[in-house]
Amino acid sequence: MAKLDIITLPDRKLRMKSEPVERIDGELLKLMDDMLETMYAAPGIGLAGIQVNVPRRVVTIDVAKREDDEASPDPLFLINPEILWTSDDTAVAEEGCLSIPEYFAEVERPAKVRVAYLDRQGARQEIEAEGVLAICLQHEIDHVDGKLFIDHLSKLKRDMVVKKFTKIARLGPKPAAL
Ligand SMILES: [Zn+2]
Repeated sequence: MAKLDIITLPDRKLRMKSEPVERIDGELLKLMDDMLETMYAAPGIGLAGIQVNVPRRVVTIDVAKREDDEASPDPLFLINPEILWTSDDTAVAEEGCLSIPEYFAEVERPAKVRVAYLDRQGARQEIEAEGVLAICLQHEIDHVDGKLFIDHLSKLKRDMVVKKFTKIARLGPKPAAL
């Protein structure tokens, strides 16, 4: 496995709509293994292909550690994930994103979701989720459609974040501390 580079705001590729996966082959499985390793190392609980510069509809998720530090890894690999249903009741939770480092904000989303996807063997699966997993699924499926969690904030807040990251990118890497 190999750790991949995560692209960050204001990289315009984050706005790309990813392409559906048509064939699950060794290359795709390796990509997902590398994504999982990259996600654990970051550390994060979810990662979409486009965040490692691959515009394909693949997502890795593991919320086990987030809920219980002692828990063993429980990775989910989702190929071509699709939201089938969302609840009318909503929940507000603080979100962050590996592509928008060190920025957190409260986002309101449907509290429960049902998602269909293909697993690593190409079998169709359905999952119904609430809590952190429901948030994570919606956040990652937004990514494959070129959406970011800041799109759920007010325009004023969103513009401020984009401006901040554009400015940081223009300044380039921070000089080494003396
Ligand atoms: Zn994200």
